[in-house]
Order: sequence, then structure tokens, then C-alpha cells
Amino acid sequence: MSLRPTIDFLLHDWLGAESLSQRERFKDHSRETFDAVLDTCERIAREKYAPFNRLVDTQEPQFDGEKVILPQATHDAQKAYAESGMLSAAQDYEIGGMQLPYTVEAAANAFFAMASVSIGSGMLTTGNANLLMKHGTEAQKRVFALNEFSGRFSGTMCLSEPQAGSSLSDVVTRAVPDGEGFEADPLGPRYRLRGNKMWISAGEHELTENIIHLVLAKIPDTGGKLVPGVKGISLFIVPKKLVDTEGQLTGERNDVALAGLNHKCGWRGTTNTLLNFGEGKYPVRGAAGAVGYLVGQPGRGLQCMFHMMNEARIGVGMAATMLGMAGYHASLDYAKNRPQGRPVAAGGKDAAAPQVRIIEHADVKRMLLAQKSYCEGALALELYCARLVDEQHTGDAQSADDARLLLEVLTPIAKSWPSEWCLEANSLAIQVHGGYGYTRDFPVEQYWRDNRLNMIHEGTHGIQGMDLLGRKVLMENGKGLQLLAGRINATIQRAIQVPELAAHANTLGHVLAQVGAATKAAWATGNPCDALANAVPYLQAFGHTVLAWIWLDVALAAQASHDAPARTGRLGAMRYFFHYELPKTGAWLLVVSARDQTCASLPETAF
Ligand SMILES: Cc1cc2nc3c(=O)[nH]c(=O)nc-3n(C[C@H](O)[C@H](O)[C@H](O)COP(=O)(O)OP(=O)(O)OC[C@H]3O[C@@H](n4cnc5c(N)ncnc54)[C@H](O)[C@@H]3O)c2cc1C
Repeated sequence: MSLRPTIDFLLHDWLGAESLSQRERFKDHSRETFDAVLDTCERIAREKYAPFNRLVDTQEPQFDGEKVILPQATHDAQKAYAESGMLSAAQDYEIGGMQLPYTVEAAANAFFAMASVSIGSGMLTTGNANLLMKHGTEAQKRVFALNEFSGRFSGTMCLSEPQAGSSLSDVVTRAVPDGEGFEADPLGPRYRLRGNKMWISAGEHELTENIIHLVLAKIPDTGGKLVPGVKGISLFIVPKKLVDTEGQLTGERNDVALAGLNHKCGWRGTTNTLLNFGEGKYPVRGAAGAVGYLVGQPGRGLQCMFHMMNEARIGVGMAATMLGMAGYHASLDYAKNRPQGRPVAAGGKDAAAPQVRIIEHADVKRMLLAQKSYCEGALALELYCARLVDEQHTGDAQSADDARLLLEVLTPIAKSWPSEWCLEANSLAIQVHGGYGYTRDFPVEQYWRDNRLNMIHEGTHGIQGMDLLGRKVLMENGKGLQLLAGRINATIQRAIQVPELAAHANTLGHVLAQVGAATKAAWATGNPCDALANAVPYLQAFGHTVLAWIWLDVALAAQASHDAPARTGRLGAMRYFFHYELPKTGAWLLVVSARDQTCASLPETAF
């Protein structure tokens, strides 16, 4: 079973991606160039990623005391990805990019995530370099970002510390000016960093010539104290190996040391590290302290990081989606081939009849349809959000601003919804396999383990819920929420004209009104403790409402499709979502509206 027809349908029949080529920035592109990118990525994913997905799970990264050893397949996959040009796909032609719309880039990256999510860590490198293109100096762009886009260097994001995960205001890594003339360094104001960064993905390896860490740290005040809160956080480029102004390695190692590898439940193809900065293992010019170059203004580090959060979170949502999709395809294939049991019939079962394939059982179809509705719905959502990113960057002023606000509201859903529900899809994929699914002889248990990360990193589920209900639906006087409601209502108005979809359109209108009422009720006392106690049920209800809208909109496009089985499948998945999933919003919204304190008020001693 191939992913490509689903991608093609969503990109072209649903989102009309080809129309992007009418924009000045994308004017050299066409359906042919988009297809060529997808063809290349599909092929590399098939040849260099998929065959090694189990290998990178069983051959975890090893530290030999000097170097981190990764399987040769990881080196080959990394090389093939860099050579494809995908690291700089969205960049300008002048610096070797393709000026590809993000919508197509995201779709193309879906093939890699489905084939082997952890063998490549290109997303981090691209995110790192994109940030520098936005906030770095010309020298920082040339020396660091361009070498990341070419694949010569790779990048990391160093935010978390052992005591500061969700709460980044508690970061204690310190950055102090590096001697006389520190401000005049051609690579940016030069500091010495000291501190520990936990959980850093791709923090140590030999895949590239150099690793460019982007590190959040605080510059102490004149009394040597760190400013509390996020205001004191600045951003620094800390290369593993020092470079000159031409980007050449100087031969000096920077004072960044691997303290240890984390041994993870899944996603084992990517190293995950505890890094010590500035503890003197690799003194620079005779002194401890990792050399770092300030990016942007002091105290604005988190804003720089958040600038690229939307795309990073769409990337996480897409990874979760494609892991779900991988499990769906595997379990569909299994269900079509596994004979077991006999059909229930009015006169009882005929034990003499041959066994049927399990896809013939209604309950197995239920599990498959649930997976299809979660994963194909989530893929549509991610591509919709990616299309908004393009709108934000290339649309006229009004539509760009609308896209910005819509993304503010939709990003917590784009990140969290697939993380929860495509993980549930992975669990159902195991269930479809029965006992075999619980063994390592089949791939589905690995998909579940790999996917379990996504509710944790890039803002945990709980943090996303609070971001949505505590900030995003309120910001700019609720304008983002109103814009989203407008888009949902527009779909409802179209669907109501179609007899086959009219009832679903009405249901969605009703649920949307309930979400609006629950948002108001949650904030009725104006007390965040009341409102946010049930932020995750709110996130779930909001997410299911968004997905129902996406499915209704997709169904409108599917209606026009001539591919009968695909059309039936998409309309079936839409109906499944409305009949089996959307009613769950009622229970979630009940506790939100009541500002239910059952959890929040239970004393610790009662647990
Ligand atoms: C495999 C992996 C890769 C990672 N890669 C990176 C990386 O490359 N760079 C990087 O900087 N970080 C990375 N992280 C770190 C990741 O972002 C953090 O794990 C995450 O932010 C959560 O922080 P924590 O683990 O300290 O958990 P905590 O923040 O301690 O959270 C524990 C639990 O408490 C809840 N909680 C915490 N605070 C609140 C609150 N205020 N209100 C309600 N609930 C709350 C959380 O939702 C969570 O359920 C990675 C993590 C993993 C596991």
C-alpha cells in the first residue's frame, strides 16, 4: 500500500497546492516540479530509510569513550537526505535552495518520517539554520547556517536542563563575556557558557564535520545574579569545534562534552544526550568555558526560539502522524492476510467452513477505520497548517495576518492531536496483530514506542493544553478563535448543501457552539486555576472539533473524486469520525464548562 495517492489527493484535489506557483516566490514551480521532489523523497525513503528502521532500533548509539558510534546505515541516510537538497528546500536560489513551498516540503518529509522517523535528524538542522537566517548576522548565516543547509554541519536545539524542562524560566546555564573586546568578534559577541543541557537530540555523533548547538543561557547582571524568568534568557551559537570566519575548522575543540547518552524507549536512531558546557574537559585557550556567540539581542533568546516553533511543532505533529500511518498500513496488510475465526451468522457459526481473514470481522474493521480516520485526518491537518505557513510568508497583508493568527490557535492542535491519537492508532495496530503485534518480529510495537515521545517533547500535552486555553484562544481578544470559527462555518455552509453531508455539517455546527460556550464558561470566574484545571480535556475537545471540520472539508473534495474505492474510504473515515469520535467532545467539555475541580482539589494525601 502506498502513501502517495493520499498525499497527492490532499495536496492537489483538496488544497490546490499547484496554485502556489502563481506566487512570485514560487513562480518557477509547477505540478511537475512538486511531483519531482515527492518522487525523489519517496525513493530515498524507500531505499535508504525503510530497510534500516529496525536496525537503528536494535543497534542503539554507543559511546566508546571518545566517539558516538552509529550504524553505517544512519550515515548513508543522512548523506542521501543532504544530497537531495531537502535541508535547504525552502531557501532562496542564491544560497542553493529550491524556493519550495513549505506545504510541499512538509509533504515530502512525510515519506521519511513514515519510513524511519529516527534515522534522520534533518528537521533539527533545518530548524536551527532557519532560525539563524532570521535572527543571525550576515557572518553567522554564512559560517553556520549555510554549512548546515549543505549538510556539512548539523544542528541542535539546547533548551532543556535537568531541572528546567517545561519551565524554561528556570534555566541556569550562564553566559559571561569572554574577555576584552568580546563584543567585536566577527562571529558575534563572544561569551563563555557554563551549564548542563539535558535531552539534547543529535547532541553528539560523527555524522557531520561539526555540530552547531543553539543554546539558551542567561547573562548574569552586574552583581553576578541571574535574572529570574524568561526575560533573562539569551541565545547563543556554540559550535562543537571552533571555526574561523570562513567556516573552516580551526582545529580547536570547544568546551562541550558528552556527559552521557540517554537510553530511550523508542526513537533510538537519533542520539539523545546530556551535554556539559564549559566544565573544562576541552579548555579553550587555556580556560574552561564553552565559547558561544550571541544571536540577536540579549534577553530575547526565547523569542528567537519561538519564531520557528510553528514549523517545529508541525514537524512533530507530522512525525506522529506518519508513525500512526506506518502502523495503519502494516495492520491493514496483516488484516487482509491473517485467517482467523468465522463470521457471526444468524444460524450460528459454521465450524466446518474455512476461516475468514480478520479484515472481515466488524471489530477489526472498526480498529482499521479508527486508524484511518486518525492518521489521514491528521495528515490533512498538518498539510493545512503547512499551507497556512506559506500563506503567512507569501500571501497579501490581510491573508498573511489571518494565517498567522490561525496558526497561533491551530499549532497546539497540530502538535498534540496526532501525538495522542496517532499513538492510539499505533496501539490499535498492535491490537489488530494480536499476540504477534506484541513481539519484535512485527514492526508495530516499535512504531508505538517511537511515537510515545511526541506527547512529551516540544511542549508536553499538558503545556499545550494550557497554551491553547490560557493564551491562544484569548489572544488579540479571541480573534484567532473567531477566524477559525469562520473557516469552520464556511465548510459547514458548503457541506449543508450536499445531502450526504448535511447532517454532519449540522452536528459540527452544534459542537462548535459548545466549544465556544465552554471557552467562555471556563473563564467565567476569570481565575486561571478554575479555567486551566481541565486544559487537557479542552485540548482534546477542541482537537476533535478541528479534526471533524478537516474531515468534513476533505469529504467535500472526496465527493468530486472519480476514484470510487478511495472516495468510499474517505467518506467512511469521515462518518467514523463523526459517529464514534465527535460525541466524546460532550464528556470533555462538561468538565471544562463546570470548571470541575475533582482533580485539582484532591489533597495529595488522598492519593
Ligand atoms: C527523546 C527526547 C528528545 C528531546 N529532545 C530535546 C532537544 O533536542 N532539545 C531540548 O531542549 N529538549 C529536548 N527534549 C526535552 C523535552 O522538551 C522535555 O522533556 C519536555 O519539555 C518536558 O520536560 P521534562 O522532561 O523536564 O518534564 P517536566 O517539565 O518535569 O514535566 C513532567 C510532567 O509534569 C507536567 N507539568 C510540568 N509543568 C507543569 C505545569 N506548569 N502545569 C501542569 N503540568 C505540568 C508535564 O506536562 C509532564 O506531564 C527531549 C526529550 C526527550 C524525551
